[in-house]
Amino acid sequence: MKHYRFERGSVSMVSAWTRDEIHEGVAALLDAYIERLPTDKDARIVLKPNLNNDLVALTGNSVDLRVLAATLEWLQAAGYTDLTIADGSNVGIERRGIDTFARLRVDKMAERYGTGLVNLNRDDGYQVVLTAGAHPQIARTVIDCDFLISIPKVKTHCEATFSCAMKNWVGIARGQDKRHMHMDLGRNIFAINEVIRPDLILVDGLIGMEGNGPGDGEPYRLGRLMMSDSAFVNDVVIARMIGLKVAEIPYLVYALEAGDIDQDLIDAVNSTVEIIRPVKKAPPRSKLAELSDSRKLLWLKKAVRPLTSQESVLKVAYKLNIVQDVYSYEEDGVEGVRRGREDCGPCTTCADFCPTGLSVEEIGVKTDPESCISCMYCWWVCPDDAIQIAGNPGYMERQIERYKKDIEGL
Ligand code: SF4
Ligand code: SF4
Repeated sequence: MKHYRFERGSVSMVSAWTRDEIHEGVAALLDAYIERLPTDKDARIVLKPNLNNDLVALTGNSVDLRVLAATLEWLQAAGYTDLTIADGSNVGIERRGIDTFARLRVDKMAERYGTGLVNLNRDDGYQVVLTAGAHPQIARTVIDCDFLISIPKVKTHCEATFSCAMKNWVGIARGQDKRHMHMDLGRNIFAINEVIRPDLILVDGLIGMEGNGPGDGEPYRLGRLMMSDSAFVNDVVIARMIGLKVAEIPYLVYALEAGDIDQDLIDAVNSTVEIIRPVKKAPPRSKLAELSDSRKLLWLKKAVRPLTSQESVLKVAYKLNIVQDVYSYEEDGVEGVRRGREDCGPCTTCADFCPTGLSVEEIGVKTDPESCISCMYCWWVCPDDAIQIAGNPGYMERQIERYKKDIEGL
């Protein structure tokens, strides 16, 4: 494990890729930060993963179920009794009534570990006035808990340049209040992080997303898990690891101006933290995309929403580079997987990715809901078509067409 310690906070990092390595890595990181955890085993602990939309985690968009499983198992083994998984997906998903928890199988993880599960978009809220001008309702579950664990991804972002711990915090604003945050996103990301701070950050840096993130970029292998006690320090360090400069990231520039970070920290990070994997940055947003976020045109956007909510219209908007996401209303009917091969030789890839810990021999055989949560991770990563999906992939068809080859190649 590597530790980076600075005056304003610290970041620790382990390498991990397979399920076993993830469990070992998460345990080692939590052991290293154990003094920050509550002494009261009945404390209300909220885990806030980045579940931005319905793209499977292996695209780099959302938090990997293996990371969630490892964290919940460690916390439960340590005796913590009151655990809740909570997030509110992006405004497009929310407005369409799409259940991201179900599509990403986070609901099955919550059931498996007996934890709470809260959609922050629909939670009660407290209004918070941010210095940047937005006044979103912040979900009560986040404000009222005793200990907050933020679980971000490592993505490039077409509006914010970079998405990690600080950007993950936009998800604690309720429902359509996120829209107001997006009208001056850099300033609002900085401002919300000044007001509400996570107690601990666990970065899922296994698979990141580069290029046109957060919803339409390419997955890349970073193969790391990091832990930090400060969202500000965390984002300066992780940005460095993927070759992004503070000066390129608007919310970090605001944090620098406000004194939440300083040049000494940036210099210390640049001289001690290696660039692990330089990423391809997000391309500039099209003029039409920028126009679509204009506060002045909000009335027009609302007026044409019945039209723009249609999948066919969204596909055109996607081709014109106005939106990144095309959502399908068709749910999947996946009931698990079947493995059509007896002997795979030395390959163990599917088992390495199975969040429930099935072995190669058990995958496609143990199909009861206790054993298999139908996440399809094994199918996504199998390089040899030896696994078949049982049931209709529904909304996933588009993801499969876009990402299957990329994921097999990670
Ligand atoms: S067997 Fe495959 S579909 Fe089932 S839980 Fe494991 S990875 Fe997911
Ligand atoms: S990933 Fe595919 S080829 Fe590899 S062990 Fe699993 S089923 Fe066999």
